[in-house]
Amino acid sequence: MIRLFLTIISLMFFCFDSKGQNNRIKISQCVSDTTCTSDPTYKYFEKEQLAAYCISEEGQKQLTLLLDKSYRNKVLDQIKIIIDSRPNSINNNGKSQKTSREVDVLIDAAQNGNVPTCYQDPLMYFMIYNYVSKIENARKKLKLPLKIPPKFGSLPTPEINAYTYPADNSKDRVEPRNSIIGFNTLLFMFAYQMPKVILPTLNVSKSDCTSNMIVVDYSMEEALRQIQGNPNIKINFAMAILEFMGLSEHITESLDAKFDADLMGFTTSIELFAVAHEYGHLIMKHELSGIKRLKLSTNTKDTISSLVGTRSWQQELEADKIGIELLVQVLKNDIATTKDTLLRQALELRSISNLYSILFYFKCMEIIEDANFINDKGVLPKEILTKEKEYLLSFAQGKFRGDDKNFKNSGGSHPPAWLRYELAKTIIEKFEAKNASKEAKSYSAIGKGLVENANLLWKLCMPVFPELIATIKEHSKID
Ligand SMILES: [Zn+2]
Repeated sequence: MIRLFLTIISLMFFCFDSKGQNNRIKISQCVSDTTCTSDPTYKYFEKEQLAAYCISEEGQKQLTLLLDKSYRNKVLDQIKIIIDSRPNSINNNGKSQKTSREVDVLIDAAQNGNVPTCYQDPLMYFMIYNYVSKIENARKKLKLPLKIPPKFGSLPTPEINAYTYPADNSKDRVEPRNSIIGFNTLLFMFAYQMPKVILPTLNVSKSDCTSNMIVVDYSMEEALRQIQGNPNIKINFAMAILEFMGLSEHITESLDAKFDADLMGFTTSIELFAVAHEYGHLIMKHELSGIKRLKLSTNTKDTISSLVGTRSWQQELEADKIGIELLVQVLKNDIATTKDTLLRQALELRSISNLYSILFYFKCMEIIEDANFINDKGVLPKEILTKEKEYLLSFAQGKFRGDDKNFKNSGGSHPPAWLRYELAKTIIEKFEAKNASKEAKSYSAIGKGLVENANLLWKLCMPVFPELIATIKEHSKID
């Protein structure tokens, strides 16, 4: 553990060196407060986007890159080359294929497409756009009503949850339909990094060469054996969390190409669910019941915040439920519309494993909640008593009637991630028992293993986080 701590600190030194040189001066957009959108709904959101980028050096650096079109195009070209050079294992053939049409379309849109504001990350925008169209098809298939399609965008925030940004903040009343759903700019990157750093803890082997059945050992003993054998696992895990919190720069290690197909399906499902949850609110016609100030920075001294709409816990849990239904349908639609037999079989095989990405998402949310607490207070969060958990869970499941202030409280925010996790788990496990083929059930061990091992890695790393974050903050002050 001490070795992990020291390695991360030495990595940190390296990070702060390069950071200090580039970003001492505020970039011009942050000084002059320029906005450009002509869409009145986006006006308030665009200002919030700019403020969110400008608040930190790391954010300003991201914004500089975002505004530099030629740099962005170069990065996108490189991404394409990297994808092309890896054997595409989606169909498990190991045959090298050229980039899929979807990737081509996405990269083209990010290079040439229109975005609603000056400070919108184009790649993120078109990924959301892509997910929305898949979810829209699923919604129609499920015959769920929706009158007005949502507007959306992204901005850096310290939270995993998306928020609704009102179009006008001058009144107390927030108009739910005239608003923007804002996703965390780092969410999609985080949804990729976390399963990527945890996948090497799983021991996956085929039961025999001819069948699709696999054997996944995700026992704690095996995970600990893998973690001990590869010290980078813990480092990469801790770095992914620190990076999401804006406390570290982007450092990434490449992953064995054999994991590509699992990683892509799993990451996409996390991202789809995040969008589907927001869709759930609109389908259920959930009005914003309150407003709150969302802190824009993980820096405890910064007080700049955004005005965002909030909903009740009950509404959040309902949106989760609809989000799960929508993701199930999107996965079904994907299978139904895939003509290539091998590819279709691969999608079927992974369908249940991909559903477990929802639980993985909530587990990551729990980790970030803990890490943000450590960042704010400097100490480890207290464990919630089992009795307290059982009470809230029973209440959420409607096992007893009556009022609870947490469920009535509309001025608060989302329910705790563990509660969302428990409720989603019941739904997914029921679905698996009823609908999954034998092969898909066996393959779901990958999704389950990722969830279990995310939990295990956090248990191992959390105790060093108070000291780790304190040291990082100390160094950033000196810098
Ligand atoms: Zn919500």
